[in-house]
Amino acid sequence: MTYKILLIEDDNNISTFITTILDANGYEPLLARNGKEAMALVSSSCPDLVLLDMGLPDMDGMKILQFIRQWSSLPVIVVSARTRERDKVEALDAGADDYITKPFGSSELLARIRTALRHANPSNHDSGPYSSTFVCGDFSIDYDKHRVKVGEKEIHLTQSEYKMVSLLCQNAGKVLTYDFISKQIWGPYNCEDNQKLRVNMANIRRKIEPNPAVPEYIFTEVGVGYRMRDY
Ligand code: CA
Repeated sequence: MTYKILLIEDDNNISTFITTILDANGYEPLLARNGKEAMALVSSSCPDLVLLDMGLPDMDGMKILQFIRQWSSLPVIVVSARTRERDKVEALDAGADDYITKPFGSSELLARIRTALRHANPSNHDSGPYSSTFVCGDFSIDYDKHRVKVGEKEIHLTQSEYKMVSLLCQNAGKVLTYDFISKQIWGPYNCEDNQKLRVNMANIRRKIEPNPAVPEYIFTEVGVGYRMRDY
């Protein structure tokens, strides 16, 4: 099966670069050069994934993201030159699946696409978000038994530590914002600061990472959130 990928991008050099990569890797690329074309194509062409540039000549990419999220959970990866953390958090909280900052390499782009497609089509894969275990290197989690192991060693996590780890594992490869994680664990009325989150993460790393200062399993996206490794 060939995945159809809608690229929404007004810059010719970037769209040629991305289209070539997609073509060469067995994807079917479609191109929209502005917001108006994008709105029309996203509804008429039924893409499997959208790559969205935020800076378009006729509208802000955020508008297109909001438009898509009104009726679809189709994976959207924001491809943007905007490097401010606030922009990333805003896009992720508005429902973007991932965020990639220009300039980027082809392998990074392809890895993000594979991850987003896998989350959107979990039944194609054994270790998808609905399977009962997740394994990554020496790390493993069994959701049914609430058991986390590194190698043969069983790791004892508190309830909130376990919730954080399992949430990240179920979304492995995807960055989850601090705000999203806090709400999932402590509810919508939890106060805004991320202190509780950071304390829990420090404890988790002490328990699961061989070297907590250089994490191998759970990465920090500074100012944005955390991402569990998925390879
Ligand atoms: Ca642009």
